[in-house]
Amino acid sequence: MKPWLGPEEQAAAAAAIASGWVAQGPRVAAFEAAVAGRVGAAHGVAVSSCTAALHLALVGLGVGPGDEVVVPSLSFIATANAPRYAGATPVFADVDAATQNVTARTVAAVLTPRTQAVVVVHQGGIPADLDGLRTLCAARGVPIVEDAACALGSTHRGRPIGAGARVAAFSFHPRKLVTTGEGGMVTTDDPALAARLRRLREHGMDVSAADRHAARQPVIEAYLETGFNYRMTDVQAAIGLVQLGRLDAMVARRRALADRYRALLADVPGLTMHADPPWGTSNHQSFWVLLRDDVATDRGAVLAALAAAGIGARRGFMAAHLEPAYAGHPHAPLPVTERLTARSVILPLYHDLTEADQDRVVGVLRDVLHPVAAAATPGPRVAVP
Ligand SMILES: *Cc1c(COP(=O)(O)O)cnc(C)c1O
Repeated sequence: MKPWLGPEEQAAAAAAIASGWVAQGPRVAAFEAAVAGRVGAAHGVAVSSCTAALHLALVGLGVGPGDEVVVPSLSFIATANAPRYAGATPVFADVDAATQNVTARTVAAVLTPRTQAVVVVHQGGIPADLDGLRTLCAARGVPIVEDAACALGSTHRGRPIGAGARVAAFSFHPRKLVTTGEGGMVTTDDPALAARLRRLREHGMDVSAADRHAARQPVIEAYLETGFNYRMTDVQAAIGLVQLGRLDAMVARRRALADRYRALLADVPGLTMHADPPWGTSNHQSFWVLLRDDVATDRGAVLAALAAAGIGARRGFMAAHLEPAYAGHPHAPLPVTERLTARSVILPLYHDLTEADQDRVVGVLRDVLHPVAAAATPGPRVAVP
């Protein structure tokens, strides 16, 4: 991944600095309104990262010690850590192999009377199958937090990811499409929740620093509860406003490049590739290939061959339950998660990737996979006299 940044972002950051207001201020407010409008939510609360957004969302929903929060293990580790920050216990749900996302079936298998929230990740930008999940969780009175870190610009049933969400969390880390360096956003339609999250991100203060500054009269603020410093800066928001204007172009380019990968790799044996699910479209934040079970090539060999050719690829999505930070953490069997994390490879995909770059990636995969896959194909390939 490489961020797509230009002189417009430089100028916007410079203007924020020249204004003298570099902490959370008017540009953050404008960025919140722009992101909320873009995803079809009533409110946006900008924060310092998506990790902070997930933490705040859980606190805002009342999750605390003794509670369980269902999360996929197959996600960036922040998804699992967020319940722990709130004093709750993450409970790992398995995922569906085609989308790498949790489903109503995998979540239902691990719900208990102590479940206070379910975090649904739209992994790599692929929209999760929200209808069944929403029906399941609504029946139990359990709120869904959408971890949309990767999904700005993805859609579900014709609406942007974030629309109709109880609460969604977005990331602006440079690994995602739209970046502010570091940054995150919570979106929701619930005004009371938004107001509480605004307070919590700013030390629990009943009046924001920006409002205090703008007031004509002296304002003595009160600290209503133990909050956090999870603020975004106006320098970041200035960059984000420019980046957001590029989102459609980013998504279009990535979708075209992903289609081209799919066409070029179609005849390379032993690979499974993902496509849009029937219920939505992906922004193609990530493009991964899964080495099928009928291919003997070790994933490490594929990564090594790409690295030897100077191509930066990555292992597939991590599984939190396999990390030392979760050693001894009890969980139900997670067979699909374990297969996907061991057998997938994330290929280079970024706005400025050229067709020649892509051809090179495909060439290496063809070389490293073809012989082994051919040997694994049952039956002779040439007639034996
Ligand atoms: C990147 C990512 C996060 C964390 O986002 P930050 O903004 O880096 O804190 C959380 N969840 C998922 C699924 C991610 O991909």
